[in-house]
Amino acid sequence: MSAATVGIPRALAYYLYFPRWRAFLNELGVNVVTSGLSNRQMLDDGVKEALAEACVPIKLYYGHVLSLKDKADYIFIPRLYCLNSQTLYCPKFLGLPDMIKHSLSHLPPVIDTMFNNRSKGFLARRTELAKSFFELGSKFTNDKLKILKAFYRSLTTEHRYLELLQSGLLPNQAITVLGGAKNTDTVYAEGSLKFAVLGYPYHLYDDFINVGVLTKLRRLGVQVVTTENLSPAVLVRQKHQYPKDMFWTFSDRAFRSALHFFQEGRVDGVIYVTAFGCGPDAMVYRMIEMESKKYPHIPFMILMIDEHSGEAGISTRLEAFTDMVRRRKKGV
Ligand code: SF4
Repeated sequence: MSAATVGIPRALAYYLYFPRWRAFLNELGVNVVTSGLSNRQMLDDGVKEALAEACVPIKLYYGHVLSLKDKADYIFIPRLYCLNSQTLYCPKFLGLPDMIKHSLSHLPPVIDTMFNNRSKGFLARRTELAKSFFELGSKFTNDKLKILKAFYRSLTTEHRYLELLQSGLLPNQAITVLGGAKNTDTVYAEGSLKFAVLGYPYHLYDDFINVGVLTKLRRLGVQVVTTENLSPAVLVRQKHQYPKDMFWTFSDRAFRSALHFFQEGRVDGVIYVTAFGCGPDAMVYRMIEMESKKYPHIPFMILMIDEHSGEAGISTRLEAFTDMVRRRKKGV
């Protein structure tokens, strides 16, 4: 019998968790295919199928799922709720498998494993995580030892992935390296300026959705650092700055990393990329903007993206911002 193939959309949580999912499934002998890079056709397909009021990343996710329809035996759409006992994923992540199953027809079976690791203790949380992976693995084998081995492989892969990110690679580059290829992407080479570019991972690392913000900055001679390059310890330290966590996971990470970059003062500018129609982010980018006023020596800019974002508009704003920072730095 030939091995099953699982399709994983290259969108939303892909940028954080794809390596661990792929490692786990491959260890079980399951093939993994991903959708291609985001493109206009995917977004148009998603816009047709998703609710009009959905945010751009959700619409695009629909397009990614549709592009996998005939390429996989299953589509993996995890139901992400909580992975750290403190903050939650946006409700759209929780409802994503249901939204997809009820609006798209003729899909292969959807695997919607729930990830809800809310226990306080590390060991209890690890056990909860193992349970989710056992549920996922049991779709393909009854051999519990094999699933345990695959779970271990997913953890070691995750560890390596985080190491690569903390060494300065960004998710797409680190995923390339983990896949056995050499990272030839020089997008983030050293430049004369260094910007922290912040926002939800699927806003930042999807060149289509953000109209190539990171690539454009490279061309302007800017080195980019992001939340994913920070060690978890840095973000935990920031927890003492504010009495409460943010409710939503990606908001919490974005806000705390913004505080870190402002306080540390080692970047020449901070850019926050947000998506039109994102409820959770609507408050966060305003909070970061207020925080930025305490650090007037670090220029700050918000870039809002939507399905109509134009290349020229984004380029002009990035060029103007970079030019202004460069002049300030030279004291012109
Ligand atoms: S956090 Fe915002 S952008 Fe992300 S899925 Fe939720 S509403 Fe959409």
